[in-house]
Amino acid sequence: MEEYNVAVIPGDGIGTEVIAEGIKVLKKVAELDGRFAFSFEYFPWGCEYFCKTGKVMDDDGLERLSKFDTIYLGAVGAPNVPDHISLRDLLIKIRQGFDQYVNLRPIKLLNGVPCPIKGVRREDVNMVVVRENSEGEYAGAGDWLYKGKEQEVVLQTSVFSRKGTERIIRYAYELARREKKTITSISKGNALNYSMVFWDEIFRDVGKEYPDVRQYTYLVDAAAMFFVKDPARFQVVVTSNLFGDILTDLGAAIAGGMGLAAGANINPDKKYPSMFEPIHGSAPDIAGRGVANPMAAIWSASQMLEFFGKKVWSNKLILAMEKILTEKTVLTADFGGSASTEEVGAEIIRQMILL
Ligand code: NAD
Ligand code: MN
Repeated sequence: MEEYNVAVIPGDGIGTEVIAEGIKVLKKVAELDGRFAFSFEYFPWGCEYFCKTGKVMDDDGLERLSKFDTIYLGAVGAPNVPDHISLRDLLIKIRQGFDQYVNLRPIKLLNGVPCPIKGVRREDVNMVVVRENSEGEYAGAGDWLYKGKEQEVVLQTSVFSRKGTERIIRYAYELARREKKTITSISKGNALNYSMVFWDEIFRDVGKEYPDVRQYTYLVDAAAMFFVKDPARFQVVVTSNLFGDILTDLGAAIAGGMGLAAGANINPDKKYPSMFEPIHGSAPDIAGRGVANPMAAIWSASQMLEFFGKKVWSNKLILAMEKILTEKTVLTADFGGSASTEEVGAEIIRQMILL
């Protein structure tokens, strides 16, 4: 029997609540299938851990995680710990340390989710954003000069390597080709006269190898407008780290909200573990009450199943969620219901068994 070893980092706030449901779903999937199994090992890292130990993640964290087939993460962040600490010392450390250079974020309006934009049909919101996840604006390079002096200046440098830019663009082209979809590159070559001109050039050059894929380019500001006004324009979208971060929160808003937004951090070479996580944060405003929507975390679990080649099961999870969203009897507060996180998790399992 195949066994997948999963490192679980529930994190803080609602991270722990939604991941608990995701794990129940994964266990049930393996039990129903019978041909594979999961083993889970928990790591208590995050802000609470930081308050106790002074570390968000242990020093040998990456080394320990490297032994796993995959990582399942909730969310990290707490009001009493600066966000750049939790983000940089855990999330970005894992993404960059394991060269998870693809951040895959589906933006799809599921059946049963009311479309928040007037005049836009459900089938119009169906894209996947391929976000560069290892460098760009989040490379962490920069300087802080003349601190406290009159001439004080800070530099935050974006880093776009040829290798890093080419591989993400190629990944997106391959995806578009495989799924017979169009590709759209989103950049800002008019203002960012080094990084984005370079990006645009590579998009064009790599595109010559994909004459079968329809190719479009947008400036990021115009793209933000069209995400809302006419999302049907976009199918496979490829963009930089920062732009992808911002556009996918916008994408979450047009596809039902943060409670439904999933993301995968992929190391396509499979040299290191990939990481699956809902894109929402720890939501301190609702944490501890058991009311968070577990669907984003469960959609991420569905991406994990797809990554392991269990396409039938990954589809079943989406179908089970669509059933619930359509019936509207067991929903969390963000979708106007009064069910708890656990009740929605249990209902997803029940619907999945019925499929
Ligand atoms: P957030 O995503 O935690 O919350 C934004 C809003 O969406 C809140 O009103 C919240 O209640 C709601 N929301 C989010 N997920 C929900 C769910 N599953 N069900 C129902 N409602 C949900 O973003 P924020 O408030 O900007 O950040 C809170 C903390 O989380 C910060 O410390 C931030 O740094 C951190 N954060 C972490 C990650 C991550 O770990 N990947 C991502 C984003 C933010
Ligand atoms: Mn984000």
